[in-house]
Amino acid sequence: MVRVRFAPSPTGHLHMGSARTALFNWLYARKMGGVFILRIEDTDLRRNVDEAFGAILEAMRWLGLDWQEGPYYQSQRLHLYREVVKRLLEEGWAYPCYCLPQELEERRREALKRGEKPMYDRHCRDLSPKEREKWEKEGRKPAIRFKVPLEGKTSFRDIIRGRIEFLHQEIEDFVIMRKDGIPTYNLACVVDDHYMEITHIIRGEDHISNTPKQILIYNALGYPIPQFAHLPMILGPDKSRLSKRHGATSVNAYRDMGFLPEAVLNFLALLGWSPGGNREIISREEMIEEFELEGVKRHPAVFNMDKLIWLNSHYMKTSPPSRLAHLALPFLKREGLIKEGDYPIEILERIMPLVQERAKTLEEMPRWTDFFFKQEIEYEQSAVEEWLRDELHRKLLLLAKEVLAVLEPFTKENIEVALRGLAEREGVKAKEVFHPLRVAVTGRTVSPPLLESLAILGKEKTLQRITQALKYVG
Ligand code: GLU
Repeated sequence: MVRVRFAPSPTGHLHMGSARTALFNWLYARKMGGVFILRIEDTDLRRNVDEAFGAILEAMRWLGLDWQEGPYYQSQRLHLYREVVKRLLEEGWAYPCYCLPQELEERRREALKRGEKPMYDRHCRDLSPKEREKWEKEGRKPAIRFKVPLEGKTSFRDIIRGRIEFLHQEIEDFVIMRKDGIPTYNLACVVDDHYMEITHIIRGEDHISNTPKQILIYNALGYPIPQFAHLPMILGPDKSRLSKRHGATSVNAYRDMGFLPEAVLNFLALLGWSPGGNREIISREEMIEEFELEGVKRHPAVFNMDKLIWLNSHYMKTSPPSRLAHLALPFLKREGLIKEGDYPIEILERIMPLVQERAKTLEEMPRWTDFFFKQEIEYEQSAVEEWLRDELHRKLLLLAKEVLAVLEPFTKENIEVALRGLAEREGVKAKEVFHPLRVAVTGRTVSPPLLESLAILGKEKTLQRITQALKYVG
């Protein structure tokens, strides 16, 4: 049975790159009928975990990445790591290191001066019991280091990148437990992955250099070694590693910018993987169906904001209006257009089809729909000059008000017949009637479809707007 895990540190937000890692783990579990486990790597106890982790859980729920086990917290498993470290010490795989940070630093600098690699110089690897006792008596607390073999190499086959090899002489005797008794990432990760029976470790490429260290620990403990799949880096458009410099990096920031979860999910899936046939639009179900770890690319993926916007507008267009209305509501509230509970959601549902072809994000919704909610609308000056100033247009607007005032019922079809009839009687093109009316009602020359908008706005408000506009231009 496939068992995979996503193991974020509580950083306070879910980075888009981490979300991609979570998604690929989730997809693989779904595809293989396996289990997706969530584990919080919170051994860095200085951080407030609850707060920092809340946002990560929120983002995962928003994306619909549900887990079957966890969250497990490493901070609650310290006894387990300590037991394992004790065993490694007893069996000669690890040793206490009494060096102080400043001593390590000094020797590192000297090594650099000699032109050597600044690795830990194994100072405490072969201390005699007497020397150890001396340090203990002095009250120095040791860190625990892993005894890396002096010769040979560790290699593994990565599902995505093929065979990878590291010479032991390139790996220093790394710390597995700090002086304060807190395990380091490499140790805790191996112990957890073993006890959680993880079969496939799917994570970012930045962890490749940790993998030989982890394999050395697996071997020392006689644990079976899981499979590894390291996902390609994500780069910004300038081909440097994706960072804040390139814009928002957290999932929640994209949510707040008005992206739909299905668009973000689709976008993340394409960061390093693609379905067959050059398709870009892919549903959650199709992703599960088609996802293959072997199909993940080795070369870095580039974060393309235009593509995300394009995907989002696709999902905006194809969303059922009722769903879109609920998603748009917080954005309309945020702009103060709708107050808590004062606007019938059914009307919002009628508005959505008029704007979902036009707004690329939910954040653009207020700009497209504000005239439905405002009491006083603001006019675009150029629109007023073009369509409301001259006598003919003012006259047509007044006549439009008269024909609309007697219209019953106030439907799109009736409005259209009435306005076209008016244009014909006056011997003008229909647009000479429509445009001034559009400016009067929406304040702009570009708006959602006019006739539908009027019907939704209703007769009373439409007439009011016309009166206001006529008054405005005197
Ligand atoms: N906590 C590590 C990280 O956030 C997990 C790495 C791993 O998956 O092994 O990068």
